[in-house]
Amino acid sequence: MSTRTVAETPRNNIVSINPMTGELLCEYEQHSDEIVEGKLALAAEQFRAYRKTSFAQRSQMMTRAAEILEGNKEAYGRLMTQEMGKPLRAAIQEAEKCALGCRYYAENAKKFLADEEAETNATRSFIRYQPLGPVLAVMPWNFPFWQVFRFAAPGLMAGNVGLLKHASNVPQCALAIEEVFRKAGFPEGVFQTLLIGSDRVGKLIADSRVVAVTLTGSVGAGSSVAAMAGKEIKKTVLELGGSDPFIVMPSAELDKAVEAAVQARIVNNGQSCIAAKRFIVHQQIAEQFERRFVQRMASLTVGDPMDPATDVGPLATAVGLRTLQEQVDKTVQIGARILLGGKRINRQGNFFEPTVLSEIPRGSPVMDDELFGPVAAIFVVSSMAEAICVANDSKFGLGACAWTNDEAERDLFLNEIESGLAFINSMVVSDPRIPFGGIKLSGYGRELSYHGIREFVNTKTVSISVITSTS
Ligand code: NAP
Repeated sequence: MSTRTVAETPRNNIVSINPMTGELLCEYEQHSDEIVEGKLALAAEQFRAYRKTSFAQRSQMMTRAAEILEGNKEAYGRLMTQEMGKPLRAAIQEAEKCALGCRYYAENAKKFLADEEAETNATRSFIRYQPLGPVLAVMPWNFPFWQVFRFAAPGLMAGNVGLLKHASNVPQCALAIEEVFRKAGFPEGVFQTLLIGSDRVGKLIADSRVVAVTLTGSVGAGSSVAAMAGKEIKKTVLELGGSDPFIVMPSAELDKAVEAAVQARIVNNGQSCIAAKRFIVHQQIAEQFERRFVQRMASLTVGDPMDPATDVGPLATAVGLRTLQEQVDKTVQIGARILLGGKRINRQGNFFEPTVLSEIPRGSPVMDDELFGPVAAIFVVSSMAEAICVANDSKFGLGACAWTNDEAERDLFLNEIESGLAFINSMVVSDPRIPFGGIKLSGYGRELSYHGIREFVNTKTVSISVITSTS
C-alpha cells in the first residue's frame, strides 16, 4: 500500500487506485524511452528464435500458463477486484476463463494453422500460416485479464511475440500477466508489459519492429490507433464499444428473459462492451417486463466487490462515474423518464444506482453513446421488424440478442440485425470456441476461434510447379 494520496503522485506516474475507497494502492514511474527501447529490441530479437519453436513446445508452455492461472485464481481475482472493482466471484471466474482460453489454443493452434492444400494448375498449391513478429496490444481495464489473454493465447501460439500497453489504471494486472507467461516458461521477451501512457503509443506503432496492433477500447482510441497504423501500413484489429440491443417478444419465457436482462446489464458493474444496454420490448408484454425488470434491478445489492453478497460494485474510475451521471442527466433533461435510480450513490467510492430509463428521446446520450455502468434503457415496439429497426438505429454493431420462440421472428432477427454476434434466448457472451467482434463503430477483425489466431499471421500462398526437362 502506498503512503501517499492520489493527489500527491507525480502527474505522469501510472497509479493503481481502489475504486471502492479511492485509496492509492501503488504507483509506478512510466518506463523511460531507454527501457522501452530495450524491450522493443528484445522482442525483435526473441521473435527470431521463438518463431522457430514447435507447436508442441508452445503448447506445453501455454498449458503451464493455464495451470498457473487456475492455481492462483483467488489471488489474481483479488488483484482485479482491488484495481477495478468487479465483484470478486466474477474476477475469479475471469481468471478461470483465461485458463480455458490458454488451453483452447494450446490444444487447437496446430490444427488451426496447419498447411491448407488448394487445387490449382500448379503441381502443388497450399497456404502456410506464419507468424508476423512483435504485435502491440493496447488493452482496456474492464476485463483486465481476459482481454489480454484472448489476444495473447492465440498470438503466442501462432509464434508471434507480444507487447502489452495495458490501461493506465490496471498496472498491477498488467505486470501479473507478464509474470504468468514468464513463470510458464516462455522465453524472456516473448511477452512484455510496457508501463506507458497512451500518448506514447504512436511512437511504438511507427517503430519498424512493431508489425501489427490490436486494440480493445473506446471508439476514440480505436480510431486514433487505426489512423496511426494505417499511415504505417500495419494491420489492426479493433474491438470497440457497443450498445447492444436485448429484444423481448411475446413468445419468450418472460421470467428467464427478465433474469437474463438484469444479468446482461449489470455484468462487470455494467462496464462490458457486450452488456445489453437497450431493452427493446414488444408492447404486449412491455408492462409486465418493465415491472419485473425494475423490481429485480431495485433488489440488487450494491456494495463492496469483495463481499460475496454484492451484485454491483463501484465503477472503475471517478471519471467514468462523472461521465455516466452526465449522460443520464442529459437524457433525462431532454425527456426520458426515470423508472429507477438515476444518480450516483452518496457514499465513498464510485457507486452508481442501478437505473432504468424509458421514453428515450432521439439525440440523447442513451441513444447515441455507450453507457458504461448499470443503466438500462427500455424501448417499446409493436413487431420484430420494428424492434430490429430500433436495434439497428445505432452507430454500434457488436452483440445483440432476441428472446422469442417464434421461428419466423428468429429468422428475421438473424438475417437483419446489424451486429457481429447474434444470440437467441440467451445473453451475449464470449467463448473461445466462437469468433468475437463487431461491425460499424464496434470495430473490425475477430478474436477467438480459428478466426482469431489467423488475424496476425502471414497467409502465405505457396505454389510449386515441378518442371521436368524434356530433353
Ligand atoms: P479507452 O479509454 O479507449 O482505453 C483503452 C486502451 O487504449 C487503454 O490502454 C488506453 O490507455 C488506450 N488509449 C486511449 N486513448 C488512446 C489513444 N488516443 N491512442 C492510443 N491508445 C489510447 O477504453 P477503456 O475505458 O479502457 O475501456 C472501455 C472501452 O472499451 C469501452 O468503450 C468498451 O466498450 C470497450 N471494450 C470493447 C471490447 C470489445 O471486445 N469490443 C471489450 C472490452 C471493452 P490509457 O489507459 O493509458 O489511456
